Amino acid sequence: MKSLDCGHFPSPHGEHTTGTARFNNEEMCWDCAYKIEKGDAIKHGNIFAYLSEDGKKVTNWPGMVFSDNLHFLCNMTDNFGGERTYLRFRFNGDVWSGFAMGKGMYLRARKTKLKSLY
Ligand SMILES: [Zn+2]
Repeated sequence: MKSLDCGHFPSPHGEHTTGTARFNNEEMCWDCAYKIEKGDAIKHGNIFAYLSEDGKKVTNWPGMVFSDNLHFLCNMTDNFGGERTYLRFRFNGDVWSGFAMGKGMYLRARKTKLKSLY
C-alpha cells in the first residue's frame, strides 16, 4: 500500500472506510488533517466546520469532534430565505461564536473573549 503525503497509510475511521483528506494538494490521513484543521483554527481564530446531524457536536468533514459543548442562541432567516442557527461552543478552552446552516451542514465561527457559553 502506498503511504500518503503525511507519511501514514490510509486507515479506516469509524464507519468510514477511506481516511484521506486533501490539504494544499497533499493527501493525508484524517488524523493529520484533523490536527492541521484544529491548529489552523486556533492560530487564525476562526473555524470552518460542520454541525453534526444530531446537532450536538461541532465536527470536521469526516465527523471528528472539535466540540461537544454547544449552546444555541437563536434561529434567523437571512435575506435569501436561508436558515441560520446562531450558536456558541467551547473549543480549545475558549468560547467560539458563529452560525450553522442547519444540522449536518457547515458552520462558521470565530473565537471570542467570552468566558461563558450563556
Ligand atoms: Zn497522517
